[in-house]
Amino acid sequence: MIIFNFAMTSNNKVGIILDDDFSSKNVPPYPYPMFLSYETPLRIKAVIGYLEKNRIFDDERIIKLKPLPIEEEIIYLAHTKYHVDSIKALSSRGNGLLGEEVYVTEDTFELAKKAIGGAVSAVTSVINQKVNQSIALIRPPGHHALRETASGLCIFNNIANSILYLREKLQYNKKIAIIDIDAHFGDGLVQYFYDDPTILYFSIHEFDFVEGEIGFIDELGAGDGLGKSINFPIPLNSTDDDYLEFFDILEPILREFMPDLIIVAAGFDMYFADPIGNCLLTTISYYKFTEKLLKIAEGICEGKLTFILEGGYSLLGLPVCIHSVIQSLLKEKYKRPSFEYLDFSHNSKKNEILKIKSTLKNLLANFWTSIQ
Ligand SMILES: [Zn+2]
Repeated sequence: MIIFNFAMTSNNKVGIILDDDFSSKNVPPYPYPMFLSYETPLRIKAVIGYLEKNRIFDDERIIKLKPLPIEEEIIYLAHTKYHVDSIKALSSRGNGLLGEEVYVTEDTFELAKKAIGGAVSAVTSVINQKVNQSIALIRPPGHHALRETASGLCIFNNIANSILYLREKLQYNKKIAIIDIDAHFGDGLVQYFYDDPTILYFSIHEFDFVEGEIGFIDELGAGDGLGKSINFPIPLNSTDDDYLEFFDILEPILREFMPDLIIVAAGFDMYFADPIGNCLLTTISYYKFTEKLLKIAEGICEGKLTFILEGGYSLLGLPVCIHSVIQSLLKEKYKRPSFEYLDFSHNSKKNEILKIKSTLKNLLANFWTSIQ
C-alpha cells in the first residue's frame, strides 16, 4: 500500500499590515526613562528583519497590506476632541512625557493615527475576505488608551477605534469577539464595550497587572453586556504547560457566542525574555494558541481572525513570537527557535490556574449554557 504524505499546509491568504514609519518613527525621548524606552521602532524593525530572513514575504500566501489612510475625524469615534487635540499640540512641540507612562515626540500624533489605520486595514481586509486572516504590525499599542486620555504607552485605542469604524462607517453590526492576550489587562479596551452585548471581551493577563484595580474575575460586564466581559488572570511565572487552560472556557463560549469576526489584542509580553512581563512562555504557546483559535474560527466564522499588535518588548522574543503565529496561520509545522531549549516546567502554576478556572466557570455558568 502506498501512503501519500500530503503536506498539511494551508492555502489561506494572510495579510500583514506594514508601514516603514512603524520601524523608524516615534523614538522614545532622551534620556530614555527605562520603562518608556521599550516601546521603540526597533520592535517592528526586529520583526520585519526576522520575517525577511525567514523568507516569509516570498510566500505567495502572504499579502502585504498598508494601513488605511484615515481622516482625523475617524479618531473622534473613539476619543474626545480634547484628547486628540492635546496629542496633536504636544506632538507639534516635540519630545516630552505625558505622566509616567506615555511619551510624545514630533511623530506621535501621525504615527498613532497611522496605527489606527493599520487596525482598520486588518479588520476590513478580513471581513471583506480580501485575505483569510491578518496581522497588523503597528505601534504605538492601544489597549490601555481611554476615550479621554493616553495611558500605559498607548496613545489611541487602535482596536476600539477599528470596531467603531466598522460600526459607524461600514454599518457592520455583526458580533465581534476580542481575545486580549497581552500580559497587562486591557483596561482601556474593556471600557468601550462593557455594556455592549454584541462584543465579547476575553482577557488573559498576569494578575499582578490588574490595572487601576480592575481586571478581576468577578468583573463580568454590565447591563445587556453582562457575562460578555471575561477576565482570566494567571499567576506570575506561568509556563507553556499551564497557559492554554483558558481554552476550556474560551472555546465553548466562542461557539455559543458565534462572532462573525475574532480580533486578537496581540501582546507578546508574557514571553519569558520580555523585560516588562513576568511569565515564562515560549513560542510554542503562541503557536498553539493560534492553532486552536484558527480551528475554532474556521468552524464558526469562516476563519475570520485578525491579530493586532499590542505589547511585547523583547527584541529577541517579539520576532520569533510573531513568526510562530504566522507559521501557525499557514498551518506550517512548528519550529522551535534554537535558543529556546529551556525547561520551565518546575515553575508550573497548574494548581493555581485550575482553581481560577473552576471559580470563573461557576461565575459564567449563570450566563452561558455551554459552561457547567
Ligand atoms: Zn502589555
